[in-house]
Amino acid sequence: MADPARLSLNTITLREQWTLAQCIEGCARHGIPGISPWRDKLAEMGVAAAARHIRDAGLRVSGLCRGGMFTSAGAIEDNRRAIDEAAALGADCLVMVCGGLAPGSKDLAGARQRVEDGLAEILPQARAAGVVLALEPLHPMTCADRSVLSTTAQALALAERLGDGVGLALDVYHIWWDPQLAESVARAGRRIAAFHVCDWLVPTQDLVLDRGMMGDGAIDVPGIRALVDGADYAGMIEVEIMSARDWWRRDADEVVQVMKERFAAAA
Ligand code: ZN
Repeated sequence: MADPARLSLNTITLREQWTLAQCIEGCARHGIPGISPWRDKLAEMGVAAAARHIRDAGLRVSGLCRGGMFTSAGAIEDNRRAIDEAAALGADCLVMVCGGLAPGSKDLAGARQRVEDGLAEILPQARAAGVVLALEPLHPMTCADRSVLSTTAQALALAERLGDGVGLALDVYHIWWDPQLAESVARAGRRIAAFHVCDWLVPTQDLVLDRGMMGDGAIDVPGIRALVDGADYAGMIEVEIMSARDWWRRDADEVVQVMKERFAAAA
């Protein structure tokens, strides 16, 4: 059973129902201690106003979603803005979805190098701002369009090459299948900067937008949490569910209630 004091709402779970202001108010009302905003809704509310409201509500910001996408045009400038936003929010980390192949390219090695070079370029600013860059490995099915960083071991090796100020964001949806998961998580240790939970539905209808609630799918969420806890991660646990056919269509307060129950029973 996960400790309710570690529960954080990743606001994409209620993307279709609530604004960021409503998410902040809803967390306070439901006794959820953490929040992880996405930058589009942060922009709608305004960074300064969001930072003030989150502080007033007594919430911890477990992460800001997201930076990365280094193989897209304008990535460095956008990542620099994201670092400033994460610093303004006092976020535990800036989650990095590193980007897929450049448009029209088949150069996978080149894309991986571009990711590493981009991270190295923005890292001094992140270190100066006290913002941890949390590399999120994504399921290999997303390698072409979202992330050339696919496994925990690969992300850890990159973090170790880059040095201080670079951690990992581990999301059960992306890492559960990995035969090397246990040893990679153990080696990651204190590099783990964020932990995201949801479930993998069988059959899944959409790789990105058909995530399940913990307990409804194939992932041993408590088992993976035990690995992460065993690696000395003591931070927040974010519930991050993109669900176009189900949870985005339900009443927001119902989703939050179920989320709290499943967090206690199946995370
Ligand atoms: Zn995630």
